[in-house]
Amino acid sequence: MAALKKYTITLIPGDGIGPEVTSAARKVLAAAGVIIDWEIVDAGVTAVDTYGDSLPDATIESIRRNRVALKGPLTTPVGEGFRSVNVELRKKLDLYANVRPVRSSLGISYHHAPIDLIIFRENTEDLYSGMENEIAPGIAQGLKIITEKASTRIANFAFSWARENNRRMVHAVHKANIMKKSDGLFLKCVRNVAKKFPEIDYREIIVDNCAMQLVMRPEQFDVLVLTNLYGDIISDLTAGLVGGLGLVPGANIGDKLAVFESVHGSAPDIAGKGIANPLATIASAVMMLRYIGEEKVAARIRAAITLYLAEKSHMTPDLGGSSTTQELTDALIEKIKLLK
Ligand code: NAD
Repeated sequence: MAALKKYTITLIPGDGIGPEVTSAARKVLAAAGVIIDWEIVDAGVTAVDTYGDSLPDATIESIRRNRVALKGPLTTPVGEGFRSVNVELRKKLDLYANVRPVRSSLGISYHHAPIDLIIFRENTEDLYSGMENEIAPGIAQGLKIITEKASTRIANFAFSWARENNRRMVHAVHKANIMKKSDGLFLKCVRNVAKKFPEIDYREIIVDNCAMQLVMRPEQFDVLVLTNLYGDIISDLTAGLVGGLGLVPGANIGDKLAVFESVHGSAPDIAGKGIANPLATIASAVMMLRYIGEEKVAARIRAAITLYLAEKSHMTPDLGGSSTTQELTDALIEKIKLLK
């Protein structure tokens, strides 16, 4: 019998509910038979408390060395304190594509029609440039940076993925009617890329209308490509359509490295209570398994999640139940074993 492959993967447990949901994901992967030597490193509030640095060099080096990481959410202070470590991490490692598949699940119906869309959010620039100034008392300025390079790169990524996965349509989401130069440049770049993919139906939609259309008729969307801020907001909106933030996974992908994490944040309101829904992080780990080539085991865990959601037992409070993170994890592991 061939020896089982062993992986070394970086793990950032994160802040708030991060350690709870990443620990659940580790248990699920172990139960599914994936052998991972987790290199555990810190970032965020936890790292500030321990090292006085929100993103220690050792964390960046670990991801560069292992090329793959699973990450819990990190807290960013609102209106003061250190800058977002998530943004810094994505920029430092040039993880330019934030990929977020949003699918409705049987048993969790928040909308009449099935939803199966995927968000490609540019991850390195826009209003997340971090360039903000108080230019005079009472007047603040934030710089929205849009470049041809980053816009073309995310558009290429989204269209290439759409082609490889036989998707029919790509929407570029923008506000180029108002931001003619910045969103105008983004749109120009996506249009140029779209020309190389004639088999894909390419459309454009203004972001505010997109938000309304997503709430009213989400089934009309297939692949969305967006700049950083719109991508962030639309991600949470679409999560709300399919059962909430506890369900939607994500990946930050660059040319050589990838960091997998759910869409949700550190959820300080429920941290430490043992009731966080770990499925978004487990589904992010499934994306990670596909990335490293473990398609078979990824499919088995995904099937177990589908089975579990369809049964609607052992639901955490966000899904209308009263189960704990641990009970959900155990119930999911039972399903994985059944599918062996
Ligand atoms: P949040 O995503 O943490 O929480 C929003 C709401 O969803 C809360 O009511 C929370 O309880 C609920 N929720 C989120 N995840 C859940 C889960 N797995 N199970 C059950 N309920 C869940 O957003 P927020 O409250 O706006 O942000 C809190 C902190 O997280 C902030 O510091 C923010 O900067 C940070 N954040 C980090 C990331 C990241 O690390 N990638 C992403 C978003 C927000």
